[in-house]
Amino acid sequence: MCEHHDPTTPLDVAAAPAGATRSPLGRRTLLRGAGGLLLTGGIITAGAEGAFAATSQNGWTAGTSSQIPLSSLAAGAATFPAGVRTGDVYTVLRYVAVQVNATVEALYSPGCWGHNYREISGSTSLSNHASGTAIDVNAPDHPLGAAGTFTSAQVAAIRTILNRCNGVVRWGGDYSGRKDEMHFEINVGPSDSRLPALAASLGGGGGTPTPTSGWTLVRQGDSGFRVSAVQHLLRQRGYSLSADGVFGSGTASVVRSFQTASGLSADGIVGQDTWTALIVNVQSGSQGEAVIGVQKCLTAKGYSTGADGIFGSGTDAQVRAFQRAKGLPDDGIVGSNTWQALTA
Ligand SMILES: [Zn+2]
Repeated sequence: MCEHHDPTTPLDVAAAPAGATRSPLGRRTLLRGAGGLLLTGGIITAGAEGAFAATSQNGWTAGTSSQIPLSSLAAGAATFPAGVRTGDVYTVLRYVAVQVNATVEALYSPGCWGHNYREISGSTSLSNHASGTAIDVNAPDHPLGAAGTFTSAQVAAIRTILNRCNGVVRWGGDYSGRKDEMHFEINVGPSDSRLPALAASLGGGGGTPTPTSGWTLVRQGDSGFRVSAVQHLLRQRGYSLSADGVFGSGTASVVRSFQTASGLSADGIVGQDTWTALIVNVQSGSQGEAVIGVQKCLTAKGYSTGADGIFGSGTDAQVRAFQRAKGLPDDGIVGSNTWQALTA
């Protein structure tokens, strides 16, 4: 496990999400004490494990393995203990690990590492390992502070991987100060659109097992059009939540409420049973949140349409075109089979 993130090479400000901070631990809080006295300026430290959400250097929420969603990661002969963050981060870091193993050098265990909740040695910042957004590869061969641990041919292969990642991934060998050649990290914040775009171009997957039923499993840590569909369907059914396309703890809580109300196991995961209970059939003339969900899925699948919640002739034409492309009856009715294909 590497010991640090070089403080002389902070996150690219241009890539940082709004509100991201390089000093994530200086979070201010408001506390109303006994008697109604308003207390301000309390500083939450990273040591307050479990109490508050701090962020790692790249702006992602840090926490223990029970606090952030993690997927197990393996590449070649190596496993990465504790895994990495579920969703697009997993898709990208898995790509990096698999490509390093295939084109740079064979990975082995122990020696590869992923999530680890702790502060950076010698500082009060949280390593990107603390948010599950960094990996170390073959650590014994690429010790912290050592430069030139890879051959020029290997570095060229690493460059190919980094170029493919379009600035989303940074290599510790590129730190301007102390080198950390074992280390690769997500170099954009959670709201940066380059990450989901890259993950989609890499085939997605997100570290979420695909069930045999044909319904794609959606759960906390995921983001994108499937999550939007879940959120709009929940709104259609009267639940209050924002449809931001990000499956956070709030969405998970609403999903559990829906599951309980539907007599399902309240695990917060949208699988076959929950999808089946959740979908609403819509067709020409329908209006509302479920239609918005359909429209966002259509657009994500390349059948661009507005997201106005009105199932008019334009949406109808796109649904029928999508159905024909998927070998479904082009009746323009979005029922179970079409919903399943739209959220695949
Ligand atoms: Zn590292």
